[in-house]
Amino acid sequence: MPAKTTTTTTTNAAGSEPPVFQSETPNGSQKGQETEARTGEEEDEGGDDNEEDAPSSSSASKKKKKNKKKKKSSGPASSSSSHPVSQIDSSIPLPPGVAQHYFDPIKGKGLVATRDFAEGEDVFMDSAFVSAPPMAQAKHVESGELCNDCFQPIEHASPTLVVRCRATGSSGNSSCGATWCNRECENRGRTRHHNLLCRNSNPASGQFLDFLTGHPYLSLHSVARLYAMTLLCHSHTPPPSLTSTNKDARATLQETLAHTRAFAQIHEVARRRRNPGWEVEKKAWEATLKKALELLRIAIDPYEQGRLDGGGQGGIRGKGKWIVEPGFPREVAQQLFGWDGFMRSLGRANLNLESQGSLYAIHSHLNHTCSPNLQAHHPPHPRSRVRQATKVLLTATRPISRGEELTITYQDPSQALRRRNLLLWREHMFGPCGCERCERELAALPEDEREEALQFERVDEEDKAEVEARRQQAERLTREQEGGEGGKKGGGEKDLSGLEEELRAKLGF
Ligand SMILES: [Zn+2]
Ligand SMILES: [Zn+2]
Ligand SMILES: [Zn+2]
Repeated sequence: MPAKTTTTTTTNAAGSEPPVFQSETPNGSQKGQETEARTGEEEDEGGDDNEEDAPSSSSASKKKKKNKKKKKSSGPASSSSSHPVSQIDSSIPLPPGVAQHYFDPIKGKGLVATRDFAEGEDVFMDSAFVSAPPMAQAKHVESGELCNDCFQPIEHASPTLVVRCRATGSSGNSSCGATWCNRECENRGRTRHHNLLCRNSNPASGQFLDFLTGHPYLSLHSVARLYAMTLLCHSHTPPPSLTSTNKDARATLQETLAHTRAFAQIHEVARRRRNPGWEVEKKAWEATLKKALELLRIAIDPYEQGRLDGGGQGGIRGKGKWIVEPGFPREVAQQLFGWDGFMRSLGRANLNLESQGSLYAIHSHLNHTCSPNLQAHHPPHPRSRVRQATKVLLTATRPISRGEELTITYQDPSQALRRRNLLLWREHMFGPCGCERCERELAALPEDEREEALQFERVDEEDKAEVEARRQQAERLTREQEGGEGGKKGGGEKDLSGLEEELRAKLGF
């Protein structure tokens, strides 16, 4: 499930940022271990919705949370299997005092306390499994003002320790601005994503990186970094292992795929079509994402045709040497880079991204309630005092007893019952929320208002601005597509200012 952000106080450094996506979700099945190659499962899951964008399928989303009352109100929205699915990954090391628990197929997994915690006590800290910059910071990461891996301001780093990518890169126009606080950040960043997502070491990634600059979609950034990490497991410099307690241990492909599958997942189209502005944004959105996938494949798909024609052998060559070794499992690449696999990856990112943009393996287990017992914070860096966007600290908001489920809130808890449920249903794909507070508030409503309180598909007054924002964004994307690539590169960046950025933040994309 998801983890979201909660009432996080938070944020990072350079600025703060509106949470983009909030949320997370529920999950469902747990199946122990499957094999990656098997496409099956996932496919079915989102299945129906998936296929292309099944716009009109009908939907039903129910599931999740404690709702035993399945939501019957389903809306126009989706189709039958539009509920997130996730799995237990027992290879993830958990902090003391916390255990994974699988509740049931509706609610999925979650975390429970294995000892008592006092109010205000830190329950656990989690470091990003995949770090992607908070959206408003992406350009500062690219320019080298923020560390490419931990997103701390470089000005706070010790000047003698700072490392710049371009110093080691080639010359010419392949200028990569990546900068790291020190060798540790550099090593972690290069082995997790930068060896592939770098204009110097992998010039084929240039167009995709330009695209990201013009379209700072947090989920897309996160997917690109996750894919890069997955591919780099098949290299001479694999990323650090999450599973092993040995600091020097390196991740295997199998391990990384298992961690990835454990996150709640949904087909992105199934999620997006619950948005009130879907009809107006659909066409432009799909065309943009198709372009994004095409460029991502050129950048890092070992089986992209142009790369195979150039002697790629199922690996990725950068400046004369293999970055990803030949023979990366083809079926895994097909899964990652096929349209449905890509959509599921985006859906997974959107369900699980924490507000500051990273994916956390443990934090993402936390289920939602409207009166949570944990609050998430991004602790300040000991040296700079700037909040760390890639670490999240969970603190008890009240005394927690051993055996109690640990929860956060995915939505602003100050909103009214109906609005909370509406947003949970749209963004986190579950509902109605069956938490104690919701039950209480629902019971307090007059009989005839209860049903309406759970009308998820209804469009609220508050949604109007969002629909308008989506319409404007769709128009902009369409203009851009019609104007060809040209518009995007140069112009793209400028467009980002002000309103545009705000809209994007709101759209959560
Ligand atoms: Zn750093
Ligand atoms: Zn670089
Ligand atoms: Zn609730």
